[in-house]
Amino acid sequence: MRENYTLKRLYIAEPLSQGATLSLPKAQSHYVGTVLRMGEGDELRLFNGRDGEWRARITSVSKRSTTLTLLECLRQPKTMVDIVLAFAPVRRHRTAFIIEKATELGVARFEPVLTTRTQFPKLNLEKARAQVIEAAEQTERLDIPDIAAPIALMDWVSQQNQRQIIFADEAGDARPAYEALQSLAAPATLLIGPEGGFTPQERDALRVIKTIKPVSLGPRILRADTAALSLLTLFQALNGDWNETL
Ligand code: SAH
Repeated sequence: MRENYTLKRLYIAEPLSQGATLSLPKAQSHYVGTVLRMGEGDELRLFNGRDGEWRARITSVSKRSTTLTLLECLRQPKTMVDIVLAFAPVRRHRTAFIIEKATELGVARFEPVLTTRTQFPKLNLEKARAQVIEAAEQTERLDIPDIAAPIALMDWVSQQNQRQIIFADEAGDARPAYEALQSLAAPATLLIGPEGGFTPQERDALRVIKTIKPVSLGPRILRADTAALSLLTLFQALNGDWNETL
């Protein structure tokens, strides 16, 4: 267990190294100074996927900026399991739920795909990125999963090359996910459809590709958010990083 758990964490894209001093951008400075009401001498943790996590001490706080000195590296950067979630954006609050929960569950990257029945093709990337950063800070992750811009399903398929894709196929005749995942280690991508499901044409087009494995998530129709997080959970438990501890 790490004793610095109580210290607040902030994602900082700038380089983090021993003894470095850096000043927080305006928004984060406001958060630290006004919202968290932190002052000179207070400590917090700064992290990013490249440099790991560092204990930092505030050397000055003002309305406009906060400066800090980095004291020690608490956690080295580490590579995450290469598991990608490809999903058709659904209604806003459910998409936000998928993004937050999949970030907690360790997804490496989001690849939104637009299918025939996708009703919410607009994804606010800026908002989604802020949600991902907030979830990563809370969940003690070291890296921030990136979010690609939405692209049409078949264009996305054409970019997959030899990547393994686990396709949640609600048609009902696919192999149980637990069984199918026994032989499907990372790197892999999970593919989840929209509220309206995949069209028969899409399903046919997906099932002829040898690197795409259809799986069943049981006898009930799960909402896209339920399906995405259930399959991600199963993957992490079987082939991902759930055998690691904090
Ligand atoms: N409206 C569709 C269901 C869509 S559910 C229908 O009634 O058939 C949204 C997505 O979740 C699906 O496209 C699929 O990717 C996934 N999903 C939901 N339930 C599933 C199940 N039992 N097995 C496999 N995938 C499932």
